[in-house]
Amino acid sequence: MYINKPSKSDMAKKGALNFHNTDYNSCQSNSIERLALISKMRIEHAIKLYGVDRCAVACSFGKDSIVVLRIALDVNSNIPVVWCDTKCESKHTYEFANKIIRDWDLNIHIARAPKGVNFWTIAKEYGLPEIRGKGNNRVPKCCQILKDGPAEEMYSSLGTKCVMTGITAEESHQRFMLMQRNANKAQSEGVPADDIEGYGCGAKYFSKTKNRYTLMPIVDWTVSDVWNFHNLRSISHCKVYDLCKDGRVGCGPCTAYNSWIVRMPQQDPESYAKIRKIIGITTIEDYTMSEVHL
Ligand code: SF4
Repeated sequence: MYINKPSKSDMAKKGALNFHNTDYNSCQSNSIERLALISKMRIEHAIKLYGVDRCAVACSFGKDSIVVLRIALDVNSNIPVVWCDTKCESKHTYEFANKIIRDWDLNIHIARAPKGVNFWTIAKEYGLPEIRGKGNNRVPKCCQILKDGPAEEMYSSLGTKCVMTGITAEESHQRFMLMQRNANKAQSEGVPADDIEGYGCGAKYFSKTKNRYTLMPIVDWTVSDVWNFHNLRSISHCKVYDLCKDGRVGCGPCTAYNSWIVRMPQQDPESYAKIRKIIGITTIEDYTMSEVHL
């Protein structure tokens, strides 16, 4: 079991961000209950402001978004849940997602790319997805077509005003910077760091292009906090977390992150066999990033 070894990121260790410094009178300790209460207040406030039908939880069924989903359902069990099914999710992701949809009786809305468009057709046209953020490659074409486009269409059709995500600042430098930018902007406009909506600590922002709010209710949680909440609420998790260290839910054949060559064989051997054939490698040692092109 790899999930029992959570560690705080370097950023948190260095104290680059003063996590959990919000002082809410109603809950004084630094416990996971306190963190969950703060996140719940952020969600409650959004639902109160926009109405439950104009809010949505973006859920990948990963360890983070399932926490946001659980807390949001505690506030209102009918909140819309949007899952972007890329049609190439690993079989473990499908198993776990279907179990949660059924067991938690979700108000689920599944966003998918049009018929005939899938990972393999996109790879044939544009090449395999390259590492996110590398060079000019901010968002891989594959993500734009299989995730971003269908999700946008879904939110538009639902009339969503506020999307709640499981993003945490600890996950990556990019996400940490996003939170910092949001917090700095809000605080420079006079919003206190501990405002109940989450603007002051960077948990909420408005996108003019999307004309929508994004709320990241657990943005200031660490990996340990996330797993502590899973334990506290006896929430099950996708099997990928047991199969390899830092397992990822989602697309089985994804090559858009650094350690795919190590994780894919363990998480999705079928996809790995296909990818290996495409790029012509027989062993991990044969692999170099420059070969990830069709
Ligand atoms: S996560 Fe990877 S495989 Fe999935 S849509 Fe994005 S680039 Fe494609």
